[in-house]
Amino acid sequence: MQTTLRIAIQKSGRLQEGSLELLKESGLAISNGKDQLKTLARNFPVEVLFLRDDDIPQYIEDKVADIGIVGENIFIEKRRKNELVKRLDFAKCRLSIAVPRAENYSGIQWLHGKNIATSYPNIVRDFLAKNKIQAGIHEISGSVEIAPGIGLADAICDIVSTGSTLMSNGLKEVEQVIQSEAVIIASPELDREKRIILNKLLFRIEAVQKAKNNKYILLNCPDTAIENITSVIPGMKSPTIIPLKREGWSSLHSVVDENDFWEKIDLLKSFGAEGILVVPIEKMIA
Ligand code: ATP
Ligand code: MG
Repeated sequence: MQTTLRIAIQKSGRLQEGSLELLKESGLAISNGKDQLKTLARNFPVEVLFLRDDDIPQYIEDKVADIGIVGENIFIEKRRKNELVKRLDFAKCRLSIAVPRAENYSGIQWLHGKNIATSYPNIVRDFLAKNKIQAGIHEISGSVEIAPGIGLADAICDIVSTGSTLMSNGLKEVEQVIQSEAVIIASPELDREKRIILNKLLFRIEAVQKAKNNKYILLNCPDTAIENITSVIPGMKSPTIIPLKREGWSSLHSVVDENDFWEKIDLLKSFGAEGILVVPIEKMIA
């Protein structure tokens, strides 16, 4: 029987769409898991299991799943036999301590002797110990942000991205505990065949990520500017130069990193680049 790699992703929630998109962009033909618990990819030895995100680390430890996509917050909290194999650059958020807006929060000492409601007791315990604060931890599994309002706790530790949920519950963020993003976690005990499939998948994911971080750039320039421009956008091996019909001019094609794109554009213009086009790349393999 052919080996398949079992990948656990969130059944519904904030990670589901990004996880499915990543697998699809990596070329896996899979159907959406609205009412399914699992599905086989039609063109790659992978089976996708749809589960609650909190349960994924345990399923991996129990070898029901081989790898999974979860928030780093869940990976850190659960402390199962999992290893972090790749950060995925989506579902970025942080775990923070928040207190009622009216509180005169003077610093971390304020938490001393208080009660903190959270779904992340391990992470909060470590944070308190690191800062030498003694406080109670009240573990609840959801709707943490209402805890202070109903008198269940003095503070909370929960996920924050924009802060609007805190705001609408009369809370303010006072301490950042950890940063998080979606990650791939895996069992440290995968056999050789499964490792091979995982490595193939990681190779594809990297090609997708690189493509997202880079743009294809085309521009016209006087031939005398080619050297200068090449030093700014050297591309993967070197730029492609195509002569224009107009004497003394060329079209130069290269790749540019999205992050320093705007800075480079100014430089390119100062060297005489014109008619600059920037287009997305779908996959990028060095
Ligand atoms: P489940 O029913 O599967 O247990 P859940 O309610 O625990 O779902 P979600 O709210 O869907 O979980 O969040 C899943 C993960 O997405 C979180 O663990 C976190 O890593 C990330 N996340 C949560 N909220 C945000 C946000 N506002 N912005 C970005 N990422 C977030
Ligand atoms: Mg959950």
